[in-house]
Amino acid sequence: MTFRALVLRQLEDRRTKAGFESLEMKDLPDDDVLVRVTHSSLNYKDGLAITGKGKIARIFPLVLGIDLAGEVVESRTDAWKPGDAVLATGWGLGEEHFGGYAEFARLEPHMLTRIPKDRDAAWAMALGTAGFTAMLAVVSLEEHGVRPEDGPIVVTGASGGVGSAAVRSLAAAGYEVVASTGRPELEAYHKSLGASDVLPRAELSRPSRPLESDRWAGAIDNIGSETLATILSQTKRAGAVASCGLAGGMDLPTTVFPFILRGVALLGIDSNFCPAERRNLIWNRLADVFTPEIVETMSETVPLEDVPAWAERIMNGQVRGRTVVHISS
Ligand code: NDP
Repeated sequence: MTFRALVLRQLEDRRTKAGFESLEMKDLPDDDVLVRVTHSSLNYKDGLAITGKGKIARIFPLVLGIDLAGEVVESRTDAWKPGDAVLATGWGLGEEHFGGYAEFARLEPHMLTRIPKDRDAAWAMALGTAGFTAMLAVVSLEEHGVRPEDGPIVVTGASGGVGSAAVRSLAAAGYEVVASTGRPELEAYHKSLGASDVLPRAELSRPSRPLESDRWAGAIDNIGSETLATILSQTKRAGAVASCGLAGGMDLPTTVFPFILRGVALLGIDSNFCPAERRNLIWNRLADVFTPEIVETMSETVPLEDVPAWAERIMNGQVRGRTVVHISS
């Protein structure tokens, strides 16, 4: 039996090339749980890997796709049984372990999370790594003690996957949310997710002074570089900034002033190797906030063969919200 997969190979000149291939079961890693993948998703990191714009892959050949969801088919452990509805995000999927852009995947038991009650694989992938990261950032701000009454929270890259889910998650938790975006034409979308205001990207994406007037009780940043530095310089005393991404660059041209003069905290968000127990908490919280109706407004579904074209789009900042990839029925 063969099945289709989007595979990344390394060429002789060390460049990489993604293409569709037919795989057999014996091509999969020898892990304990076999999953029939029905849905995957497209994240910024997938875009970097497919287009070769980022060095994401650490093994070759590699089945791409950092997310997957579907049904357990076979299990050599008691932790999972055939028929279980499962999802997997991170854990090096699509980087150093075969990922979700194939009809079958073999995974170690700890890599799987049960899909919350009354939700399905399509729902899980409409959130995927991006939704998971957004809620991880919200919980990190809460754990730091940032409260809704402390003031507004700014979300950068608000039209993207992490940004859209962050706006919705913060608004559902009672925070006042300001959506920073390079696409002001999407104002109605940001407001429908719960943003009270929309800020043009250029207001934050610029060189900043070490300290500027304080505006934010907290922030969820997907951009990095000058944007993150500006946010830090505008964060209120004892506020916190959750750093998720690098869509604008991986540098951070800041000073220690926000940290030592305002006690601002910079919280690192790593969705990839988040422990299994915390994953359950985050996914159950996502199930509380995101009804199937809400995820429909912020996602679009594409077939596996369209993924290379959509990878170009996500790299060009042209994707709104989340992209679900339909793998098999
Ligand atoms: P998306 O491409 O969906 O969203 C990124 C958004 O950033 C875009 O929609 C756009 O929003 C904005 N943007 C794009 N390019 C630029 C640019 N050059 N300068 C400023 N803003 C830009 O990506 P995701 O939401 O999937 O991921 C967002 C970031 O978070 C990525 O860097 C990704 O690698 C990272 N990430 C990190 C994770 C972690 O565990 N730490 C997990 C998941 C993602 P707009 O048009 O509204 O301005």
